Amino acid sequence: MTATIDTPTSEDAPVETFDSLNPSNGDVVGSYPIASKADVDAAVARSREAASWWGNLSFDERAEHLLTWRSVITRRIAQLADLSHRETGKPHGDAQLEIVLAIDHIAWAAKHAKKVLGSHKVKSGLLMANQASTVEYKALGVVGVIGPWNYPVFTPMGSIAYALAAGNTVVFKPSEYTPGVGQWLADTFTEVVHGRPVLQVVTGLGATGNALCTAAVDKLAFTGSGATGKKVMAACAENLTPVIIEAGGKDSLIVDEDADISKAAEAALWGGMSNAGQTCIGTERVYVHEKVFDSFMTEILEQAKDLRAGADQGAKIGPITMPSQLKVIKSHLDDAVAKGANVVLGGPGAVGERFVQPTILTHVPENSTEITEETFGPTLAINPVKSMDEAVELTNATAYGLAGAVFSKKQGVEIARRVRSGMTSVNSVIAFAGVPTLPFGGVGQSGFGRIHGPDGLKEFTYAKSITRQKFKPIMMLTSFSRDAKTDGKVASLITLMHGGKKTLK
Ligand code: NAD
Repeated sequence: MTATIDTPTSEDAPVETFDSLNPSNGDVVGSYPIASKADVDAAVARSREAASWWGNLSFDERAEHLLTWRSVITRRIAQLADLSHRETGKPHGDAQLEIVLAIDHIAWAAKHAKKVLGSHKVKSGLLMANQASTVEYKALGVVGVIGPWNYPVFTPMGSIAYALAAGNTVVFKPSEYTPGVGQWLADTFTEVVHGRPVLQVVTGLGATGNALCTAAVDKLAFTGSGATGKKVMAACAENLTPVIIEAGGKDSLIVDEDADISKAAEAALWGGMSNAGQTCIGTERVYVHEKVFDSFMTEILEQAKDLRAGADQGAKIGPITMPSQLKVIKSHLDDAVAKGANVVLGGPGAVGERFVQPTILTHVPENSTEITEETFGPTLAINPVKSMDEAVELTNATAYGLAGAVFSKKQGVEIARRVRSGMTSVNSVIAFAGVPTLPFGGVGQSGFGRIHGPDGLKEFTYAKSITRQKFKPIMMLTSFSRDAKTDGKVASLITLMHGGKKTLK
């Protein structure tokens, strides 16, 4: 995958490159340089210089640039979707949908940064009544973003757009499977903000990502596997660089006895199979109330009838983007079958050389890897449960905690609250990802930190608190001139304020 070429820009040494390949047929989509540690350091240094310009623009000026960029992406959506289709293999429509959501996030971040991050007055309290207090959220400086390949626009944009809107500059290391998409984003941004390296891309493999972690950026936003997330944290620890980790999941979709079975089946099928199951917030497990299990299975198998993976127009499922994942998918299916799962569609034999045909297993033992580990393929493990208590318990019996869905007419929200995960959709799948005001992120092995919404903007800032003395204090407490009489008054005041038994009511 890697090569060495002479480029007109390199006077000293040839630049090492790597190819991005079309996973449907192995064709080379493009060749990109492997950025060295020195290249990454230089990009971060340029970014720091640009940060003093970008960070000093007003929120409105930055919003203007970001909204222009949003319009450029929107007008060229077909071009970007085609590039994403060629690099990831996903169908054009799916590639477009991902970009649509990302565009909406850029607009939201641009329009709301001022309100969320600008200076706010806060109450000073009785003890400090002579102070006017404000809090504002300041940009950190340079943010490093490391992205995955499965949603090469939507996923990194959750960090890039919010970090930029907050006043930071960004150095982005896209996945080695989708460098073209990353470069396209940076190139279009440069068309809007000429001559200022506010958003730069460094392409390369894991070592380039590692170089970004150790380049003394002010925050590192990582999206990818938990295993790499641990390496990222360890590398960032060297400079005490704070990190956001958006890692994998093993989300469940819970179906209650009063659910709309047809809609629940439609959602489970799409949640599990779309993007060939390569979705961090995709449905991997389904827990169905035993009273409706049979009708749910009849419905989902009927809906799955014509669904297939392939590279032709009629195929709604694309290839497995990362060839090494094929082995993981096969091993999970083999493990489930060996432990006693029923194959009702596809099965271990559905794993081909580039494509995996839709696979549904039922009665999958809870100790099989198909239940305990992220499969990242078009497979669903569907198990009956006696009650919603059992569905919640099994859902939560995983080290992950990213997202999930609940289908129930009466108690959807109550069940959703009991699921230990960052996000849950009731009576739909992944709806939260398209709501720009909602924070996005997980707990446990799914990571920490939040992108999107006000929390996502604040994630790329630090809080700055300011007090301004409005008038002389009635009692001067912060002075060596404070006497015993004042100490007595302070004791009386605090007793008056907090010494009683008064509760919230
Ligand atoms: P990955 O961990 O293999 O790679 C992610 C990125 O990290 C790539 O850009 C890669 O080059 C880089 N990298 C590799 N080694 C590195 C190192 N030592 N230091 C720094 N960077 C390094 O993940 P992937 O296969 O690209 O993505 C799939 C995973 O991402 C799945 O687990 C999926 O669930 C997860 N994901 C999570 C979210 C979320 O928001 N929680 C979103 C999308 C994908």
